Amino acid sequence: MIGPVTPIDLRSDTVTRPDEEMRRAMASAEVGDDVLDHDPTMAALEERVAGLLGVEAALWVPSGSMGNLIALFLHLDRGDRFLAPLGAHVLDAELGTAAWLAGGMPHALPVLTAPAVLAAAGGESPYYGLRTTLLCLENTHNSSGGTVTSADDHAALVAAARSTGLAVHLDGARLWNASVALGVPPATLAAGVDTVQVCLSKGLGAPVGSVVAGSASFVTEARRVRKMLGGGVRQGGVLAAAGLVALDRIDRLAADHSNAYQLASGLRALGWEVDEPATNIVLATVPDLEKTLLSLREIGVAASPMSGKVRFVTHGDVDSSDVAEVLRRLREDV
Ligand SMILES: *Cc1c(COP(=O)(O)O)cnc(C)c1O
Repeated sequence: MIGPVTPIDLRSDTVTRPDEEMRRAMASAEVGDDVLDHDPTMAALEERVAGLLGVEAALWVPSGSMGNLIALFLHLDRGDRFLAPLGAHVLDAELGTAAWLAGGMPHALPVLTAPAVLAAAGGESPYYGLRTTLLCLENTHNSSGGTVTSADDHAALVAAARSTGLAVHLDGARLWNASVALGVPPATLAAGVDTVQVCLSKGLGAPVGSVVAGSASFVTEARRVRKMLGGGVRQGGVLAAAGLVALDRIDRLAADHSNAYQLASGLRALGWEVDEPATNIVLATVPDLEKTLLSLREIGVAASPMSGKVRFVTHGDVDSSDVAEVLRRLREDV
């Protein structure tokens, strides 16, 4: 290969950088003091997201992890058991805060189906029985490769949880991707949940920010917990402005999905063992994960480890020609 290789970063859809339009919106945002009373741009963002999700109210938070934590903190009493799919972000990727700070006792479901929820929740238990009070959903499911829960499956899971008295929280970090992949509104995929968290800083490309949403009374309490966790920001409109621009870009995610298909089929043609992507995440099974990640780096392709596999994530800062270039480098590298 001649000359320096331009790195192509497929580690995550969080690596996107705000473009000119987004930076301009941030620079000119109308602001207030969101801790004292309200910042108008924050308020506009929260209202817009609540509308998209079909819930009463929403609250901007600095990260998806904080959004999930606030929801779990308010749902769980100390020692309550909560159910989540195996490999869920709340179980594996949030430093144990569900237990450490929210006081919950996790129970992972290897297969997430309505009967599995019913069986795990159990029925009435004697006074010395464990209390199971919450079901945590994740759509798309990151660690299983950006897989999508359909509207019907979502409704069945929520109904199962309800029938046994569980509250429901949805980790919708990539709910936008699920919505675009299925061609249904985000609100349909959040129907019936008590609380939902969505990220603005993944495929939508904001530099920072998530939103946690639910009833108006949930958001009133969530605002207190956010402050307690150090997540109250003052002139947050500067950040919310980026979120508003990000929300204009939901449809763009379709390009990430088609780039993921292109990458998966190209890898397969090169002999790789690759799961069929449902959204913007491609998982490849390799004999030696560390060695593969290193040799990818050597040809200027950054990927990340996930569930014992190589994870490639497509996003707004890579296009179809970048994917073609990744495949070209791999072809020439043999
Ligand atoms: C990224 C992600 C989050 C939140 O991540 P932050 O980095 O804290 O914003 C939550 N859940 C899932 C499934 C995610 O992929």
